[in-house]
Amino acid sequence: MKMKLKKIVCPFLCLMLLCGCSHVSFKKKNNPNQEVGESIQEMGFRDHSVYSILYPKTGIDELDNMIKTIVNDGHKAFDEKTQAYKEKRKAEYNVSYESYLKDERYLSIRLDIYESIYDNHEEVKTLVYDSKESRFLSLKDICHGDYLHALSKQAQAYFKERFPKECDQKNFQLYTSPAEENFASFVLKKDRIVFYFAPKRLFDNAASMEIMYSDFKDYLDFSPETTSAYVPYDQVLNENVKPVDPNKPMVALTFDDGPSPKYTARILDALKENNASATFFVLGSNAQNAPDLLQRMVLEGNEIGNHTYSHKQLTTLSKEGIEEEIKETKECIYTITHTYPQVLRPPYGSKNDTVVKCADDARVVTWSLDTRDWKDRDAKIVVERILKDVKDGDIILMHDLYASSAQAAAIAIPKLQEMGFQLVTVSQLYETKGM
Ligand code: ZN
Repeated sequence: MKMKLKKIVCPFLCLMLLCGCSHVSFKKKNNPNQEVGESIQEMGFRDHSVYSILYPKTGIDELDNMIKTIVNDGHKAFDEKTQAYKEKRKAEYNVSYESYLKDERYLSIRLDIYESIYDNHEEVKTLVYDSKESRFLSLKDICHGDYLHALSKQAQAYFKERFPKECDQKNFQLYTSPAEENFASFVLKKDRIVFYFAPKRLFDNAASMEIMYSDFKDYLDFSPETTSAYVPYDQVLNENVKPVDPNKPMVALTFDDGPSPKYTARILDALKENNASATFFVLGSNAQNAPDLLQRMVLEGNEIGNHTYSHKQLTTLSKEGIEEEIKETKECIYTITHTYPQVLRPPYGSKNDTVVKCADDARVVTWSLDTRDWKDRDAKIVVERILKDVKDGDIILMHDLYASSAQAAAIAIPKLQEMGFQLVTVSQLYETKGM
């Protein structure tokens, strides 16, 4: 059975036009899966564990503190659990998020928390916040009457229609019963409420149920207003490919984990000034927030590579899980740039045969020169590391997440050219070198 939470993915990129006056100011975005909040990203790589944390900062203190508490408590618990962990396969803590605005008043945050130590464990935590009354909401705050019985009936019908065979299990009956805790995990979108059910509850896998407000209006306290308008992107991009001289030395600069609103543009500026190209291995979750940066990358002759959707260690996932992580980002890049990525870099460089198979047409790429810029946030050290070790054909690993990395790129780009290196994309490097 295939049932996934991540199915609510943007089929196309939209602009949300919101009407009405705002009660408080919070940061809104043009990303249909992350409508609110500035993305905060933290990454780390240790001997026996890795972590990648992405959460929103909305500008509403009470909500932001709650989000940080959940994320940090989870991280602390993970650190404690992995103190004695010494396996070869790295343990992992991963957080990603989605955020929704029902309207100017109600904000919903969904945190996806994934932990892989000896086993994989995933959970969804939701927060629904009323910005007018400055308080968190549970279901009973927005519903009245016998809404639990109505939900129970709806859930039974909803899943029996979709997964008739799986609905006979005892757990299914138990976890669709009219109890508040069965329906405690939900978000409010523009026109619908979405409930989440953890894995090993209704079914082995996680599941979700959507109910339109208009179909549930007898039990809801607010009116089912819909105020969104969708404006799809349809700009056609012409790729600007710079010529490569196969007889001269060349290297490929690569930037992972972005794009980031602050630093990616600075790197693009430095590349443009020096007529150089690079490859950006973007995360789907970040790419959706920065369509302008992705378009700029392509227009200025850079390459966009796939770095998965939420930066999970692919080797800990099932085949379906790997496919989902890759496909979501691939489609997202295509939606924005009308080009499919030709290269894939698995997070932490961790790959196996299944990852290579799931990459499909894209080439799986790691690196040959690691600048360790995520560890040493010092432009001078990073530049020295590049210039000291660089050789023809190198793929250089950096991250467009840090000020020091952007600064290092701005220094290293002209220096590398002075040393006689052409700065090319990863695909150009492979094609020219016949690798
Ligand atoms: Zn990465």
